[in-house]
Amino acid sequence: MKFSQRIQRVQPSMTLAITAKAAEMRAQGIDIIGFGAGEPDFDTPKHIREAGIRAIQENDTHYTPVPGTNALRQAIVDKFKNENGLDYEVNQIVVSCGAKQSFYNLAQVLWEEGDEILIPAPYWVSYPDMVLLADATPVVVATTAENDFKITPEQIDAAVTAKSRAIIINSPSNPTGSGYTRQELKAITDCALKHGLLMISDEIYEKIVFDGFEPICLASMGKEVQENSVIINGASKGFAMTGWRIGYIAASAEIAKAVTKLQGQCTSGASSVSQAAMVEALRGPTTESENMATEFCKRRNYVVDRLNKMPGVSCYNPVGAFYAFPDFSKLYDKNWNGAPLGGSMRFAEFLLTDAKVALVPGIAFGADANQRLSFATSMQNLETGLNRIEEAINSLK
Ligand SMILES: *Cc1c(COP(=O)(O)O)cnc(C)c1O
Repeated sequence: MKFSQRIQRVQPSMTLAITAKAAEMRAQGIDIIGFGAGEPDFDTPKHIREAGIRAIQENDTHYTPVPGTNALRQAIVDKFKNENGLDYEVNQIVVSCGAKQSFYNLAQVLWEEGDEILIPAPYWVSYPDMVLLADATPVVVATTAENDFKITPEQIDAAVTAKSRAIIINSPSNPTGSGYTRQELKAITDCALKHGLLMISDEIYEKIVFDGFEPICLASMGKEVQENSVIINGASKGFAMTGWRIGYIAASAEIAKAVTKLQGQCTSGASSVSQAAMVEALRGPTTESENMATEFCKRRNYVVDRLNKMPGVSCYNPVGAFYAFPDFSKLYDKNWNGAPLGGSMRFAEFLLTDAKVALVPGIAFGADANQRLSFATSMQNLETGLNRIEEAINSLK
């Protein structure tokens, strides 16, 4: 079979390879602790589930308008007004089948061959591949742990060329849990405006923040920033609704219209039932979301503390999301199976084989020194898994 250049250009998700190996070992009866989860281990809050059930019983089961129901788009407009102090019109909101589709849609309508898109690394695995699927070029800019994995205006200046079109910001970040302060965001948005870059801000983790960290909506940095940015958000992380598949953008009416045209020729509107549930998520009580964030914070405290006590390991203290991103590179010259560990791929293999824990190698996110450890799992699993990691590391020669 001959396949398109387009599909040959992208990699199957690297996170899937390690998940597959872990599944294989489990099938052989080996007890593996999984730290790979990219979704909350909590159930969707009951009042949200009930809104979905109600939608089915009231026959809210037909096609919706392509960019989403009026009820949901209005609830999103109100969310921006009440939580972020921002004015959007309903025609600037497009609801899709997950924030992943929101980003994919944008890439398809905005970019083409020759366009360069700045992506700070470590990045969410899908950004570079979705840029490639749009025939454009991802320009990866490596951030450092010293700067808490945040891109600086100087780095943007150095990476920009005449072909640069946009920059992607993800705060709080998957995989690092790092987040930009208002001041840092101001410096970055000023710089992006100076270079005429469209700013794409993925804010899907805004509800999962710790120690009073204030998540800043990028569009709230001023009118000009709002006009030159697209905010991406969704139901999956903050409301534990990954399977419902609801994401959305807030953009210029022009961009929203182009995205709607594309979506009308592929998926059409997102599930009517899920949209009704999302209205409840946005308008209903938020206690369960808040309790979830509190629980994630407890786990973060435990995980980061344990990791930083291990010899040769250092771990940034995340301000949000549910991942720790420890640096294991000081151990890469240790021998395992007759050769130095060398990099994150072999290090993940070592952890899976010797410690029976599954982490995601940092190379998948453009950071070969690290592993991503998701703490979207029980305290019990975290304790056992971290004990095993510690033992395996201590046994390295
Ligand atoms: C999980 C995730 C998404 C996508 O979530 P959907 O389930 O498609 O809404 C987008 N961006 C980041 C950074 C994520 O971690």
